[in-house]
Amino acid sequence: MNDIFAYTLETWYASHGRQLPWRQTSDPYCIWLSEVILQQTQVAQGLAYYNRFVSRFPDAQSLADASEDEVMLLWQGLGYYSRARNLHAAAKQIAQAGAFPDDYDSIRRLKGVGDYTAAAIASIAFGLPYAVLDGNVYRVLARYFGLQTPIDTSAGHKEFRLLADELLDRRRPALYNQAIMDFGALQCTPRSPRCQDCPLADSCQALAANLVDSLPRKSRRQRVIDRYFTYLYISSPDGRLFIQRRGAGDIWQGLYQLPLIETPSPLSLQDMALRFPGCDAELLVDGLTHQLTHQLLHAQCYAIRSSSYAETVPDGLWVPLQNLQDYAMPQLLVRIIRKISR
Ligand code: SF4
Repeated sequence: MNDIFAYTLETWYASHGRQLPWRQTSDPYCIWLSEVILQQTQVAQGLAYYNRFVSRFPDAQSLADASEDEVMLLWQGLGYYSRARNLHAAAKQIAQAGAFPDDYDSIRRLKGVGDYTAAAIASIAFGLPYAVLDGNVYRVLARYFGLQTPIDTSAGHKEFRLLADELLDRRRPALYNQAIMDFGALQCTPRSPRCQDCPLADSCQALAANLVDSLPRKSRRQRVIDRYFTYLYISSPDGRLFIQRRGAGDIWQGLYQLPLIETPSPLSLQDMALRFPGCDAELLVDGLTHQLTHQLLHAQCYAIRSSSYAETVPDGLWVPLQNLQDYAMPQLLVRIIRKISR
């Protein structure tokens, strides 16, 4: 049974698998980089980021030697900036050790590396028998075996982990892991899976029971919270813009932004006049939204003429407008500044 499942996936992969640069190498650094980037984005966009990272930082030592600002700038647009910070910290761990770790436990100890990434690197770079279990694998297993246990519970984690380990092709863990991940990404997709030409269709439990659309199951949906951001566009007569570095304890730590006021609802012109008396606020951008996993950000931006306010902002700096691209900013800010510059 296990052999047939693995064999079917591997055969499918031989003709349908994606040809990607990190598949043509067994360099653990490149495989690690690709896995971290692909946790953030689709392959098409991830490819451009991967190429930029590998060409700027061809090995862990060069990444370790870079400044945090430079790493953030290269990561800009991918979101989840803590991943970029972890990537940088892990590169320093590797550089200090002198080589990329070559066993699962040592790989797992790298900053930001969880079970999934450790299994992917251990199997793909070193041929070690560790089964990957990511969203794609959960979906394929839940559907093919008709498993109803919610995947976001500890019972679900345990059940799927045992099954994934049992199904692993221990002679070809790299091939098997890549096959099941691609199968989930291309064939057994979250929406509109291609059951009509699926090589597993004859024995797929979800297809037989008409449960394809309801599997995998989740026990709860996390609530999305709304946040209201008002950015302040403060420029100087000599063409400089006032920006600030974000501190710790919230999203986008270490990135740059326009000074920000967060309030329970959007700020009107009257609100701005009360907050900044005599400062002549002008609404530049309104009604932008930006979706994060559990937050929906509503953003607006006012120009204010108040360099004295700038003096009260922590971690602020005046930057010539033409140098703005040297500072890593969240995509939301990139959109706002682009709108203003038009
Ligand atoms: S038949 Fe459909 S649901 Fe079942 S494994 Fe294939 S693509 Fe997925």
